[in-house]
Amino acid sequence: MSNNNNVLTLSAPLSGPVLALGNVPDDVFASGAMGDGIAIDPLNDCLHAPCDGVIIHVARTGHALTIRADNGAELLMHVGIDTVELDGEGFALLVEAGARVSQGQALLRIDLDRIARQCKSLVSPIILTNGERFELQPLARKTVKVGEPLMRILARLSTGDETAVDNSAAEAAASVRVTHRGGLHARPAALIRKTALGFSSQARVHYGDKSAPCDSLIGLMGLGIGEGDEVCVSCRGKDCEAALQALIDALSAPAKDEHTAPVAVTPRRASTEANVLQGVCAAPGLVCGPLLRLTGIELPADSGTHSVDDQRQRLDSALEQVRSEIRSTLDHARQRKHVEEKEIFAAHLALLEDPALLDAASGAIEHGSAATHAWRDAIQAQCAVLLALGKPLFAERANDLRDLQQRVLRALLGEAWHFELPPGSIVSAHELTPSDLLHLSAQQAVGICMAEGGATSHVAILARSKGLPCVVALGADVLDVPQGQRVVLDAANGRLELAPSEARHAQVHQIRNAQKLRHQQQQAQAQLPAHTTDGVNIEVAANVASSSEAHTAFENGADGVGLLRTEFLFVERRTAPDEQEQRQAYQAVLDAMGDKSVIIRTIDVGGDKQLDYLPLPVEANPVLGLRGIRLAQVRPQVLDQQLRALLQVTPLARCRILLPMVSEVDELLQIRRRLDELCVELELTQRPELGVMIEVPAAALMAEQLAEHADFLSIGTNDLSQYTLAMDRDHAGLAARVDALHPALLRLIAQTCAGAAKHARWVGVCGALASDLLATPVLVGLGVRELSVSPPQIGEIKDRVRHLDAAQCRQRSLGLLDLSSAKAVRQACQHHWPLS
Ligand code: PEP
Ligand code: MG
Repeated sequence: MSNNNNVLTLSAPLSGPVLALGNVPDDVFASGAMGDGIAIDPLNDCLHAPCDGVIIHVARTGHALTIRADNGAELLMHVGIDTVELDGEGFALLVEAGARVSQGQALLRIDLDRIARQCKSLVSPIILTNGERFELQPLARKTVKVGEPLMRILARLSTGDETAVDNSAAEAAASVRVTHRGGLHARPAALIRKTALGFSSQARVHYGDKSAPCDSLIGLMGLGIGEGDEVCVSCRGKDCEAALQALIDALSAPAKDEHTAPVAVTPRRASTEANVLQGVCAAPGLVCGPLLRLTGIELPADSGTHSVDDQRQRLDSALEQVRSEIRSTLDHARQRKHVEEKEIFAAHLALLEDPALLDAASGAIEHGSAATHAWRDAIQAQCAVLLALGKPLFAERANDLRDLQQRVLRALLGEAWHFELPPGSIVSAHELTPSDLLHLSAQQAVGICMAEGGATSHVAILARSKGLPCVVALGADVLDVPQGQRVVLDAANGRLELAPSEARHAQVHQIRNAQKLRHQQQQAQAQLPAHTTDGVNIEVAANVASSSEAHTAFENGADGVGLLRTEFLFVERRTAPDEQEQRQAYQAVLDAMGDKSVIIRTIDVGGDKQLDYLPLPVEANPVLGLRGIRLAQVRPQVLDQQLRALLQVTPLARCRILLPMVSEVDELLQIRRRLDELCVELELTQRPELGVMIEVPAAALMAEQLAEHADFLSIGTNDLSQYTLAMDRDHAGLAARVDALHPALLRLIAQTCAGAAKHARWVGVCGALASDLLATPVLVGLGVRELSVSPPQIGEIKDRVRHLDAAQCRQRSLGLLDLSSAKAVRQACQHHWPLS
């Protein structure tokens, strides 16, 4: 971009619609408190440098960068709103503070999908933070692509009437704890700056051995003050007392949005029983076995004679080794759709790339430390900071850091995994890390006990997903139990029984054996069809998202695939899959299912699930926007190509096509017509069955009209709950209330089945309610004939069906429609059809 001496033209750092600052959905930015600027609603996943310059600040959590252009203008680029709360997740920095960059250079990779899901907005303000020296002129543009001209920066001429300097020697100082959520990141720092500018006194914030003037945003952010940190504020000037009071108030403003406050760790309860340690259940289950204690790596004292280059290189290659291990764990988790595992290890990868950590370690090496000790000390210093915050969530993040400490030390020391476990062991440790847990699970440990830890930690989440009983917060006593002592872990009740009698052992074995036997029996029967006691056949199919999951489903006894979510083929890539690639992927799923049928849902993206290569209009309410079948309205060629690919699988008779988010009959008729035309083009004599997802209330209420033209209906209870109850299905605070057993949902399901029956069509359920054992009798009773469930649950759902009487289910289910709440329905289900 050409710049003359006084004018600098900035290029767009992101692609997307351009917004005036006043339209940014955040009061601080919109008010101009942080400076003048402009915002972009990004459609691409990378932030680029808007000009040549130096990166003078990188937010601790990677969501914001400040660049100083060569003419001295300073620009803050803040990706999304409230993104500091992601704590670095979803951001991958490509540069460090201090780096010289050139215009257009990639600076920060952004996981748009995640930010969109978890944060208030993707709208990204670009702010001129030293507006006293420069002024900004936006170039009138509605949308921009990266690299296109965005705005001009002009140097201000000095007017010579700058505010008179306050030379008074009066001083005041006080300490205060910073209460802003996420610490003193860009937005709170801007409020402090604005407050300070209202007084003539010079004010500074002091933190640890650093301090910064309150009128410098960059200086304040650079202090790295976390939520809960205590800082000292000093003011010097005529109005120092008033300035101090105002700044103290601004720094200790009550934290907003308490609903996202960290979940408190349940305090340890003292056990009243002899020989029993009491902790907190992190994952339920009852097991017995020898207790084996794990310890971390202890380093000997540092000899202190090292070559700096050599140590730096060792650390670099150990870090790279661990990064690539984590990347492969991530790939694995991604392929298997283990969302929690994926998120935890993505956070680890981000931590491992954290400049603060890397700088601290390389600084220590420069001062003569060995790579091992430098890394350990860098981690421990960060852990100390996090622990000093006294917040459970921060303490849990410290455990993630310790995990990285161990992994990198292991890589540096060249140690193989440092313990071998006899299968069937219960493992105790001060606090285990997520990667320890994956290894332990692979080594067939049967239970986990930790002296510390919280039930909301990453380890706890992983233990639950692996079905590994786990108790946390047992106290240090658990570490004194002699190696190999036989114990009973009653995780559901948070108990570790240190001296169980023979009788207790026998009892635990008996309970475990009964559970195992039941599971084996269910698995043995899983390949057989499921009939109710009065002879109604219920197909138990599987929800899958890849051909490998289809293999597992087939082995587990699935009667078919009830829902193939085809998004797996379209997401996390830079270009669209072509017809051939799609055909092969769909064929692979068909091939994995023997002679069973496969229901393939057409692509359900749009709304909040954007594809890089498929830019769609920005939506104010994405879940109410152009998602699912509505995509055909704006991108008919995408659906067309998918239909062509689907029509080429063999045998076509085993393939059924399912349309998501249908809300009126015309949408179905239009696709049906197009499918018929394509069949003619491809010289096919028969078109595959075409079904409609019932996932918006309108579709359920119109089931009869839809069933006239559809071959089957499949109820998506996840979205149907969201749209019926007007509750975001991903809203953490509403999670317990988005319950598909709500009587309103049951009425819609009943109406769907009745409408379908008028045209002799069958109805399936492919939402999560189908996998809920308590719901099975209700769905059977209301007339559902196919349940599409998660693959590991096929055996138990079939077993549940085999114990039901469909006629009785029908009669009792109709009564549930009149109940007052989901809770009442659940209680009634438990009463009518108890789960043992
Ligand atoms: C549903 O909405 O219930 C459904 C099965 O679709 P998805 O979860 O993919 O939106
Ligand atoms: Mg859905």
